[in-house]
Amino acid sequence: MFFRDKLINEEEPKLKIGFLHFSSCSGCQVAFLDMFEEAVEILDTVELVYSNMLTRQREIPFLDVAFVEGALCLEDSHHIGLIKELAEKSKLIVAIGGCASFGGVRRLSCGNQLPQPQHQSFVPITEIELLKGKIKYAIPGCPPNPSLLYSFLLALLELNDDFLQPFEFMASSKDASGFDVIAEVVNKGFCVGCGTCATACPTRAISYNENCGKPTFNPSMCVHCGSCLAACPQSFKPYPQPVYS
Ligand code: SF4
Ligand code: SF4
Ligand code: SF4
Repeated sequence: MFFRDKLINEEEPKLKIGFLHFSSCSGCQVAFLDMFEEAVEILDTVELVYSNMLTRQREIPFLDVAFVEGALCLEDSHHIGLIKELAEKSKLIVAIGGCASFGGVRRLSCGNQLPQPQHQSFVPITEIELLKGKIKYAIPGCPPNPSLLYSFLLALLELNDDFLQPFEFMASSKDASGFDVIAEVVNKGFCVGCGTCATACPTRAISYNENCGKPTFNPSMCVHCGSCLAACPQSFKPYPQPVYS
């Protein structure tokens, strides 16, 4: 069953998707657009109707699914207006990348890394009350892999809940960093030493320690993108509790 059947009326046969961005480096949008090389086969199902890089449209149209990158700047009136527009014009919102999902690089930036001196407070869109209920999924990464974005879009179209469930979990997470991998997987004895977290990390904040067969973490290099936690095959396991007789 296609997602569009639920979201779109029969006169609008294609799922209308758009890409919006807040304070960001645009890397997630580039990854999103890269996805379309693979997405050719579903272009009869989806239509990209808004992107500041690819479409000429200046007004944001009504969107079935809004993919959003970047963190919201609380001192930027343009961002505040955009949040209201996003809430009014989208049926479903997907946060893409560490900045939109957890604050990421934006939340960590300071001093001359800030876009303007008066811009001090950045929050991920997943923490905006006005959007609660509409943001159902967050895709970690800095940026996420285009193949992952394509697989996500396919899963959304097919309502593949098994595939989508970790992204739903990410949307309700306050943060996702290398700390979580160490605390939730390694320290709880779940780590199988596969090294996937180290491979997924864009900054090498997590590396694989061959001596102990486990990952080690350098917090000063972590940009809180969540890739390691999402990639770890052991991270979504419930912590077993002792059985009392
Ligand atoms: S998550 Fe990374 S790639 Fe995406 S907008 Fe933020 S800094 Fe750029
Ligand atoms: S350790 Fe690496 S992959 Fe994990 S959240 Fe930090 S930067 Fe992202
Ligand atoms: S991905 Fe998970 S199981 Fe694999 S090494 Fe990293 S923490 Fe361990």
